[in-house]
Amino acid sequence: MPIRVLAPELVSQIAAGEVIERPASVVKELVENALDAGARRIEIDVEKGGVALCRVRDNGSGIARDELALALERHATSKISALGDLEHVVSLGFRGEALPSIASVSRLSLTSRVASAEHGWSVRVQDGAQGDPVPAPHAVGTTVEVRDLFFNVPPRRKFVRSEATEFQHVRRFVERLGLSRFGVAFQLNNAGRSVLALPAAHDRVASGKRVAEICGADFVAQSLSIERTSNISLRGWIGLPTASRAQPDLQYWFVNGRFVRDRQLHNAARLGYRDVLYHGRHPAYVLYLELDPAQVDVNAHPAKLELRFRDGRTVHDFVFRTLEEALRDTRPGSTETAGPGYRHTLTAVAGATPRLDLQEPGQASADLRNGVQAATSGVREPPAAAAGEEFPLGFALGQIHGIYILAQASDGLVLVDMHAAHERVTYERLKRLAAANSVAPQRLLVPLTIEVPGAEAEIAESNRDAFARLGVEIDRMGPGVLAVRQVPSLLAQTDITALIRDVLVDLREHGVSARIEDAGERLMATLACRTAVRANRSLTIAEMNALLREMERTDRADQCNHGRPTWARISLGELDRLFLRGR
Ligand code: ADP
Ligand code: MG
Repeated sequence: MPIRVLAPELVSQIAAGEVIERPASVVKELVENALDAGARRIEIDVEKGGVALCRVRDNGSGIARDELALALERHATSKISALGDLEHVVSLGFRGEALPSIASVSRLSLTSRVASAEHGWSVRVQDGAQGDPVPAPHAVGTTVEVRDLFFNVPPRRKFVRSEATEFQHVRRFVERLGLSRFGVAFQLNNAGRSVLALPAAHDRVASGKRVAEICGADFVAQSLSIERTSNISLRGWIGLPTASRAQPDLQYWFVNGRFVRDRQLHNAARLGYRDVLYHGRHPAYVLYLELDPAQVDVNAHPAKLELRFRDGRTVHDFVFRTLEEALRDTRPGSTETAGPGYRHTLTAVAGATPRLDLQEPGQASADLRNGVQAATSGVREPPAAAAGEEFPLGFALGQIHGIYILAQASDGLVLVDMHAAHERVTYERLKRLAAANSVAPQRLLVPLTIEVPGAEAEIAESNRDAFARLGVEIDRMGPGVLAVRQVPSLLAQTDITALIRDVLVDLREHGVSARIEDAGERLMATLACRTAVRANRSLTIAEMNALLREMERTDRADQCNHGRPTWARISLGELDRLFLRGR
């Protein structure tokens, strides 16, 4: 065949394939346009999964009569005018491809009215031919109606799934937008039936309601709301470790208001949870990252789901640290969602710091016994509330089945899984000790030589200092040969070669690795599990109370090292309901 220039219509249809994959992509483009036009209310109607109809109506700025034709032209946009604009583009679109692409694979009509016009105007595109604008009644804003998607591109039609599946895609997209644009009201209807009604949410309570509507009330009830700002800001809801999920299906990231799927961000979040989640479980979260638009390239991917940070390392650390710190506070009494805070004040023991040691019960220090005795002496008759310490877990009454501690708190009963709780308390104490010892490096008698690919040897060399900070001394001996001279003593007994290899792969793939810390933590966790009190070992009331006090002071004490809860509460209200006791 000789070389020919393709007909514009064909070019358009080919281009459409890149942007418009399925009905949900139509909805996405239309709704994003509505948002770019400043709409405060957006109504979406879908029929037959969106193949028969996708209609999006907004109350945004509208399009003037004379610009209707232009809006449907390829590479025509009102959002950027020079390449430099891309640096600080804040609109969702800017390529000027959506409307013409959609129009080339469907029957499209565009009706719009600007505030200065007396009425609206409508244009229709049929088989590539655009009609003239005709007057049409419309409030200020725009309605785009897309019918018979892919009617003229049978190969694409074949890839459209069932109506239900396609509608799920539409719904998921609208939900994501709902999570990012709280100030905008959304209404999604399927075959004339309301599926999602999200009124505008202007405060925290309303926002929480919206998140509950989309992610489930359970998620909100079992999550912490976080917010941290420096030159980057991160806020949102992070699920408690004890409310982890079997699938990573409730993880939303929004960067500067845009939903993204970014590996670096997911890794950073995962890392933030690494110490409180059972292996194979996934955290749930809805997170918003805001940073200078010049610091992030949203153009890396045509669907704009992936992005590139100018300084990925800083973003990663910021996210990781913020989550890590927030989750550190998951301990009795400090977790906002652990229920209404109750205060048990006991002046008698203010200052006493009872402690359950790793020693056998008989050897508990006299100090501890005294402190605890003082603490327990007030159990049955709590002294008048006065300024002093708070005891969210209350005071031990006894041990149940050799497994649980039963305690009375100011507003009900508390049950503690003693092994799980002691395990966490011990683990955190070991971690503090290890940190205080600043990794206690141990020199190897004979340096360990490891052969790795050249690229990885290079990574090892350039990360020499980072390794050193973790107690690992590593040198490059040749193009593909490393020598390890020193490791943290905690890890002396582990398979160093395998560990270093894995770390290098991590660094190559993700630019970060937490394996050395992980390995250390795994070891301490095992140690903690071994030393934690076993079931059926009877504890004295004093020891039980010491454990409760220690839990209240210990970071992450709400869950054991495996992410299971360590304690639960039955409130007086719940007890009353149980016994039909009207109050
Ligand atoms: P882009 O969004 O990339 O600019 P589109 O093809 O999606 O390209 O839209 C072309 C232009 O049409 C937009 O730049 C905007 O000026 C106008 N437009 C599209 N939809 C709307 C709308 N709902 N309200 C107001 N203007 C719109
Ligand atoms: Mg657009």
